Amino acid sequence: MKHQRLLEQIHQQVGELIGQGEVASYIPALARVDPDQFGFALCGVDGSEASVGSADTPFSIQSVSKVFSLSLALQLIGEQLWERIGREPSGDPFNSLVQLEHEHGKPRNPFINAGAIAVADRLVSHCVDAKRSLLEMVSGLLDSPVDYDYEVAASEAAHGSRNAATAHFMRSFGNLDNPVEVVLDVYFHQCALTLSCRQMARACAYLANGGVNPGTGGRVLTERQVRRINALMLTCGTYDVAGEFAFMIGLPCKSGVGGGIIATVPEQMSLCVWSPALGPSGNSLAGTKALELFAAEAGVSVF
Ligand code: GLU
Repeated sequence: MKHQRLLEQIHQQVGELIGQGEVASYIPALARVDPDQFGFALCGVDGSEASVGSADTPFSIQSVSKVFSLSLALQLIGEQLWERIGREPSGDPFNSLVQLEHEHGKPRNPFINAGAIAVADRLVSHCVDAKRSLLEMVSGLLDSPVDYDYEVAASEAAHGSRNAATAHFMRSFGNLDNPVEVVLDVYFHQCALTLSCRQMARACAYLANGGVNPGTGGRVLTERQVRRINALMLTCGTYDVAGEFAFMIGLPCKSGVGGGIIATVPEQMSLCVWSPALGPSGNSLAGTKALELFAAEAGVSVF
């Protein structure tokens, strides 16, 4: 109950920020989204929930999906994944090619585009149908079906030259085993997963609960794997401002250009905030402020 009141208070406090900034405009389907929306939901490890605003409105989760694809890859191949992908923040834009050249096609981390494309390649190698496996995994987390937004996926593909360049580049270094088109198809679809804040908070609650989904009781990952995903979210989860997020919020977060941000409060709860208008760093402006207020008011931090 105290959290419900806190979310309501935060909704009021961020009121003026909602709609400020720019919605992502690189594909028409995202450019059309009404910027004046805001949702915030939390899911406790005890199953308790709280939410405000448009917490039930589905949105394009975009790069937040990198947490799910990474989790699925860890389920399938465990530690072997790290032979292909690093664990350092990049300090370069999420879609930069420069670092990849210096580092011989091995992406810095699984949350930049190159890293997520390398993860998608592993999924293609280890699943009969990677797109279906990812849908099944996320649907399983919620115990109800989710789907891709096929229009967004097609649009990503139509405007995906830089991601295609990244994929070809990695393949030229031998760091992709599968044809670029097949790998990108998985990557573009995962970016087009569409869920609401309430669904995201629930789906990500295993990250706060030592790897066990509190909703279903099922183990998603080991405690150590989940600790490591949270470490990567903290250091690499919010584009080039992960340091600022750690400083101001102090929780592992992963954001996406759809305006969604998830955050983990280990052993307590999982949060998801969404507001489509982005600040200069590519993170939701109102969403970032809401998380900052929540962490301060609720007195939660990993530090
Ligand atoms: N689909 C987007 C891209 O690959 C994801 C961007 C993001 O959310 O960071 O460009």
